Amino acid sequence: MTPERYQKFQQVLNRRQLDLTVITEDVHKPHNFSAIIRTCDAVGVFAIHAVNSRSSMPIYNQVAKGSEKWVACHTHTNIESAVSDLHQQGLKVYAAHLSKQALDYRMIDYTKPTAILLGAEKSGVTQKAADLVDGHIIIPMLGMVQSLNVSVAAAVILFEAQRQRLAAGLYERVHLAPDIYEQMMFEWSYP
Ligand code: SAM
Repeated sequence: MTPERYQKFQQVLNRRQLDLTVITEDVHKPHNFSAIIRTCDAVGVFAIHAVNSRSSMPIYNQVAKGSEKWVACHTHTNIESAVSDLHQQGLKVYAAHLSKQALDYRMIDYTKPTAILLGAEKSGVTQKAADLVDGHIIIPMLGMVQSLNVSVAAAVILFEAQRQRLAAGLYERVHLAPDIYEQMMFEWSYP
């Protein structure tokens, strides 16, 4: 590995945010899932959670552009286990969900440990998931269509989280424990 490549790995690992994540709930289209992973990498998300109650998760390499190598994906067979794992880790879970009680996504403090739940392309967030989370958030829609593509919604919300975290200096300190940092450096260096 070249020194430049090693430095790049360090820069990226130094900024990875352990307490900012995404849960996808049956997001099945490979290009959508891959686009979400690519955005997570850009924002500095360390790992994401995919709930696949119906099938396994396909990755579309043309869209992910290899970012699936840099963002770990934990899979769950049901939404309860995903939400409860994250609650146990101290994260608040917000569903991007077009409900009546949803708050404007910019009203959330993403400098706090946060997970964003995204719903399936056709049916959206399930009622079960909507009931389990700490709140609902919405990206205001002022046009003719009711919703955004799920990967676009993920990007809009995650870049707001990045904006807030940059302002709070959260990318200026290392969040990974030394053993995890070393493990990631090893895995990335010797894939
Ligand atoms: N008909 C579905 C519904 O009523 O929820 C639309 C699903 S939308 C194409 C897929 C997912 O993208 C949603 O479940 C939500 O997580 C996210 N999403 C899309 N547009 C959104 C918006 N304006 N605000 C919040 N989330 C949005």
